[in-house]
Amino acid sequence: KIAVVGSTNMDMVVNAERIPVPGETILASNFFMNPGGKGANQAVAVARMGGDALFVSKVGNDVFGRQSSQLFNEEGIDTRFMLSDEVLPSGVALITVDQKGENSIVVSQGANNSLLPADFTSEVLNELEQCNMLLMQFEIPMETILFIAKYAASRNIKVVVNPAPVQDIPAELLQYVHIITPNETEAGLLTGTKVRSLASAQQAAKMIMEKGVPIVIITLGAQGALVCENGRMSVVPAAPVTAIDTTAAGDVFNGALVVALSNGMPIPEATKFACRAAALSVTKEGAQSSIPYYNEVIAGFIK
Ligand code: ADP
Repeated sequence: KIAVVGSTNMDMVVNAERIPVPGETILASNFFMNPGGKGANQAVAVARMGGDALFVSKVGNDVFGRQSSQLFNEEGIDTRFMLSDEVLPSGVALITVDQKGENSIVVSQGANNSLLPADFTSEVLNELEQCNMLLMQFEIPMETILFIAKYAASRNIKVVVNPAPVQDIPAELLQYVHIITPNETEAGLLTGTKVRSLASAQQAAKMIMEKGVPIVIITLGAQGALVCENGRMSVVPAAPVTAIDTTAAGDVFNGALVVALSNGMPIPEATKFACRAAALSVTKEGAQSSIPYYNEVIAGFIK
């Protein structure tokens, strides 16, 4: 079983010709609502890849929270520990997607900010202990991430951290982490360098490993991913597709990666599987609406 501890948001997506500049109002060609949040997206990705997912998250006592919980339940995710905050609203994300598939996002974290260590009662912790892997991202309070990572590491649960969205990482966290999966921007912040080329990504991966993380996987967008495992580096090229909307590409990558690993796949093969799953997601709009199913990934639509 795979535990995902993280955020739930309702995404409100507009498609527009371009992303507006400050002070500007432009017309959208389309609007749709779609459940999102990095935690939720990754939990759904785990479920659609055939993984047995436990999702721990916090929503508001409102229509968005109830709708999200119900949808995750229908995905086959264990939602017994989707908690509800009586005061704060559910998290929402306001997303603009331009014609090239680039996006610009504002997030109101709401109830995600009140998922705290105290919420992890013995009942939740007992359930966590049934899991062999734990996947987390940075859309919930860092004190919660630290607390759960430490707890999981002490119980030999493999901790996978996707350090997104980009923010400072406390050095303490790295000692509990088995795999870290930054994109180029996040790898840059982690190392105080600029990660733009493959060479700079290799340099950054080495620096992150030296901070004590055994496996570093840097996602490189349309260039694929760099895998660094105990000092050995390899590049997994991205599957060639036409990008429509890159929202949730990283989330699909992480969800697919942990399912492949928990099925016993070695790191480079698991990364390849994750790249194929992520590539399929960029050919579709939205966050959870773009997350593919296991059968689509192995069907060979993409090479
Ligand atoms: P994030 O969305 O978190 O910034 P990336 O942009 O690095 O992460 O994308 C994550 C993964 O999604 C990449 O490693 C790659 O496998 C896949 N991906 C992203 N963009 C494309 C693209 N244009 N074509 C094919 N695959 C892509």
